[in-house]
Amino acid sequence: MSKWQCGVCGYIFDGDEAPEKCPKCGAPKEEFAKLDEETASKIERSRFTNSLHIELFTLLEKVKEISEKGIKDELDPPCVKLFEAAKAYAVDIQQRIKAELKGHMSKNKWG
Ligand SMILES: [Zn+2]
Repeated sequence: MSKWQCGVCGYIFDGDEAPEKCPKCGAPKEEFAKLDEETASKIERSRFTNSLHIELFTLLEKVKEISEKGIKDELDPPCVKLFEAAKAYAVDIQQRIKAELKGHMSKNKWG
């Protein structure tokens, strides 16, 4: 399958042919340009990486939940300390994921 990019808004369309109208901005078919193999493959890889980031983010959300339960349970100081560390780590990685994804989107290059 080929990839087509809207020359007006940058939207990337997957298909053997360009769409009749841009799904994002409504520009006509003529505004679309076919992307070369290399660019198309970079987009695929970028989408894959983004999906990994999102999967990891979701897992870390679970880590936060579990850690909060442990902190609340307050069995003994070493346990609480461990849960606090796990929570802080999850929050830190989540912030970094957010920054990374934001960077990908602002480049608006690889869809
Ligand atoms: Zn468009």
